Amino acid sequence: MTPRRLVIVGGGSAGWMAAAYINAALNRNGRHVVDISLVESPDVPRIGVGEATIPSINHILAVIGIDELDFLKRVEGSFKQAIRYDNWLDNRGETYYHPFNRYHESPIDRTGERWLKSSRSLPFAETVSAQPGLCEQNLAPRMLGQWNFGPPLTYAYHMNALHFADYLCEIATARGVQHHLDNVVDVEQNDDGSIAAVNTQGGLRLEGDLFIDCTGFAAHLMEKKLGVEWVDCSQWLLCDRAVTLAVPHDMHYPGHIRPYTTASALSNGWVWQIPLQNRRSLGYVHSSAFISKEDAEREIRAFEGPHADGLDTRFINFKVGHRAKAWVKNCIAIGLAGNFIEPLESTGLYLADLASVMLTEHFPYGDDMDALAFRFNRIMANRFYEILDFINMHYCLTRRTDTEFWREVQKPERINDRLQAKLDFWRIKPPSASDFEDQYLPGQPDTPLPDGGTQGDHRPPVDTADLFGIDSYEAILYGMDFLREECDQWYGERRPPTQVARIVAERLALAPSRLPPHDVWLQKVVGMRQYGGSGKG
Ligand code: FAD
Repeated sequence: MTPRRLVIVGGGSAGWMAAAYINAALNRNGRHVVDISLVESPDVPRIGVGEATIPSINHILAVIGIDELDFLKRVEGSFKQAIRYDNWLDNRGETYYHPFNRYHESPIDRTGERWLKSSRSLPFAETVSAQPGLCEQNLAPRMLGQWNFGPPLTYAYHMNALHFADYLCEIATARGVQHHLDNVVDVEQNDDGSIAAVNTQGGLRLEGDLFIDCTGFAAHLMEKKLGVEWVDCSQWLLCDRAVTLAVPHDMHYPGHIRPYTTASALSNGWVWQIPLQNRRSLGYVHSSAFISKEDAEREIRAFEGPHADGLDTRFINFKVGHRAKAWVKNCIAIGLAGNFIEPLESTGLYLADLASVMLTEHFPYGDDMDALAFRFNRIMANRFYEILDFINMHYCLTRRTDTEFWREVQKPERINDRLQAKLDFWRIKPPSASDFEDQYLPGQPDTPLPDGGTQGDHRPPVDTADLFGIDSYEAILYGMDFLREECDQWYGERRPPTQVARIVAERLALAPSRLPPHDVWLQKVVGMRQYGGSGKG
């Protein structure tokens, strides 16, 4: 078979993930089915902040054949076991976790129900997962010696996404991916409207059978050439800008590396803290309609305190939404060119990773791509809305009334219909696993996407709970004190004390003698520099 010619335009994390993954997944076992070229502008910088991931990244790393320790060294990486939310509920210093691991009872898990029937004196996540406790002690999810701490702890990573792209570039080009540093200035089309070739400033003409648009929000192929519409979702997620800064450990080292991402709600959005081996990355995600650039910068500097003095800030504008169709004719938009949801649950790289995996699974070996594009578009739309609902929920359950922004996000028109149907149903019957097998709940909207996938696809997106299932929903719902009044009515106001699952308590008791502090693990295993003051805290 003649190899298919795949041209990727754009070399951010999305472009290089697609190149490295597709090459590793398809050109294997002596087969060579696709010739991959990637052209990347030397002038347009990648979006690169200190970025947090979710555990699914392990799949793509494994298929590419990346060694974890090498990866951590190259991307200044650290472990992430959870997200900690501060001040989301009522701005009185409350905190809750969304951990990656939790304990379940079998065959039917009643841990959530039991917590609802208790006095709720302990946060839900702490009763079913050791990870909030491990995070509070800044412990690594790995041991220094051989693992003997029970079932493995699920984790993801924090990383420098610019280094990640460079690392993937090195791997992919060593395995035959052609790399061109040049600006694409023109896109040629065939008579049927599909893309024939891209032309660069430097005089290159790259012909292809398939093109991936990874040019970020510019979407040079998908939007500028093919005119594929962007479906705006800012009605439900109001934030559209971030101001970022990075605090080198050289300037201020807090004495530990948190093994989790922190998302602290501020006056008009929230600030991430992502610890890397050499610095902490911070970004205040906010809504430009509610706060000026100057005030946002003032607020993030005040949040960080004196260590922020003299550090540069950077503003990044973004838009929440997705391409009406991510795959049109022979062009597929991956990364920011295809979709974006604000980074509250660290799903940006995940969506690019998913698109690469799905494209590999639906790879067009012939010219008739319609059926493959139909399924690909459907899967991407379903997953996008699954994430949108979930992130929307973090905002609309708040009880904060201290600013116009927090009052606005609670208004009914800011809650999307699918999520509203879920919340309404769970106010009649608390969430349970069966709700996530088929999420067509009473009151679910029956309206299709504006341009739903492909001709004849008139169904609304379906939440398959593939990413955020009951574990994730319970963590956020109960972290945000959902069903408090209902529980008083259902179970009475005097209820038994909340208990931590025995297995969780046992694990936590054992943890300090088994798991090293996160920074100690990073120093000993991947050579992180020592900054002094290491340890728990
Ligand atoms: P970019 O990084 O913008 O890359 C675009 C590429 O296209 C560049 O290489 C550029 O040179 C090239 N290009 C542009 N024009 C041309 C041209 N004419 N010719 C040739 N090449 C061209 N995701 C997470 O998973 N976790 C997080 O914590 C997270 N935080 C984020 C915070 C913010 C504020 C934002 C905006 C995003 C965040 N993301 C996060 C998302 C993540 O950054 C992106 O999904 C990821 O970086 C992929 O970006 P990209 O490659 O699509 O685009």
